[in-house]
Amino acid sequence: MNESLVKSRAFINGEWVTTDKRFRVDDPFSQELIVEVSDCGEKEVNQAIDAAHNAFQTWSKTTAQERSDKLLAWYDLIIDNIDDLAELLTTEQGKPLKEAKGEIQYGANYIKWFAEEALRIDGDIIPSPDGQKQIHVIKQPVGVVGIITPWNFPQAMIARKVAPALAAGCTVVIKPAAETPLSALAMAELAQQAGIPDGVINLVPTSEASVIGEALTSSSKVRKISFTGSTKVGKILMSQAAENVQHVTMELGGNAPFIVFDDADIDDAVEGIMASKFRNSGQTCVCANRVFIHENIYQNIVEKLTEKVASLKTGSGLEDDVAITPLINQAGIDKVKRLVQSAKDSGAKVIVGGNVSDKHNQIYEPTLLTEVSFDMDIACEEIFGPVLTLIPFSNEESVVEQANATKAGLAAYVYTDDRHRIKRLSEQIESGMIGFNEGIISNHMAPFGGVKESGMGREGSKYGISDYLDIKYLCIK
Ligand code: ADP
Repeated sequence: MNESLVKSRAFINGEWVTTDKRFRVDDPFSQELIVEVSDCGEKEVNQAIDAAHNAFQTWSKTTAQERSDKLLAWYDLIIDNIDDLAELLTTEQGKPLKEAKGEIQYGANYIKWFAEEALRIDGDIIPSPDGQKQIHVIKQPVGVVGIITPWNFPQAMIARKVAPALAAGCTVVIKPAAETPLSALAMAELAQQAGIPDGVINLVPTSEASVIGEALTSSSKVRKISFTGSTKVGKILMSQAAENVQHVTMELGGNAPFIVFDDADIDDAVEGIMASKFRNSGQTCVCANRVFIHENIYQNIVEKLTEKVASLKTGSGLEDDVAITPLINQAGIDKVKRLVQSAKDSGAKVIVGGNVSDKHNQIYEPTLLTEVSFDMDIACEEIFGPVLTLIPFSNEESVVEQANATKAGLAAYVYTDDRHRIKRLSEQIESGMIGFNEGIISNHMAPFGGVKESGMGREGSKYGISDYLDIKYLCIK
């Protein structure tokens, strides 16, 4: 690995800053220390906010072309370093190297996309009611953005927020997850090499998330909070952000239904389920959380999935062909154990797996549970582990009702060959995104985001930059 990308200090105003306190970042597979990282508190986050606020005065006035060029230079450096960044990501987060490389490319795609979108922040001229004036609409960056991200996509969740922010002319203070600050710090290093000016990107790793969250939301210099993480923390941040009426983008938890009708292509559906469920060992907010299978094809699908799930190899993310790697921490394992136990107690059957691996205390075996029902805890909470739960159903109306019986509304998946059903379900299913006959839906050109308690705002696509822009109306006579 390129050691110059392994950073252990905070990044404030273009400087690498040491703090008195440090916290450990461990490799989830070896469970050994990778490096101790600066532990920021109120002092450092306030310095970062001031730096971002000062940098905003100049960055917001740069030309769109200048911002676009800088973002493209950053993109190029990320791609030049993709192998090292992927290895670093796997080391701190655990996911298979191939997935880590996929994440770096996926995150980088947002940077390139928003470099292009920077050039298209167009306004409008609208006719006035009396014909005597001109109504002009211009768009301006909202200001300093506080960014808080989770550990499951340590690079992409940051790229997806920083890229539109910078493209719009905003500056940022980032708080990465304590489990995975290293990918974020490496990105900051490359941003500096790409010529992104001091203070535009600031990064404050911490073991005390709430201190940073409170500082970001209580500062009148911060005009927006962009958060990806749990619904519980999202609600805390939204209520704190209300104090200064900050903009919020909230990408919160999901509880994705995956529905397979009896007219679907069964092999395709099985592929889709496997891809959607087991990516990142089940630790994504768009992973299939509840898989509804029509009773006519249920047995057939159980047989096919049994073989597929049983063949998933477990181990270190750095080994070849490994699909299932350690969960991020012991709390992740405890949650999966609790949900599987409670499902078993309520009548679910374990067909494959069902235990912590005997090879590694933080790997949960790839697991297939059948005879799950939509009201069990395991179908109501995000599992965040490699556990596939199958729920039989008999008709469209009842399955839609069950799919919608959740406060979450992020992703949903439907496999069917009936175009009329696709039209009906497009409207009836309550989620921000639906994959029809597709299990992997997220990319930089599409609007990612949820409805209900899964959040608000969209990331990626032509819609993604608007979250970072204020609209100003000019009445000109
Ligand atoms: P997860 O279960 O995925 O860790 P969290 O919502 O707990 O989800 O964490 C997502 C991000 O939110 C992480 O960076 C975490 O440190 C941060 N976080 C957790 N609690 C708070 C808080 N009270 N204020 C601000 N950020 C927080």
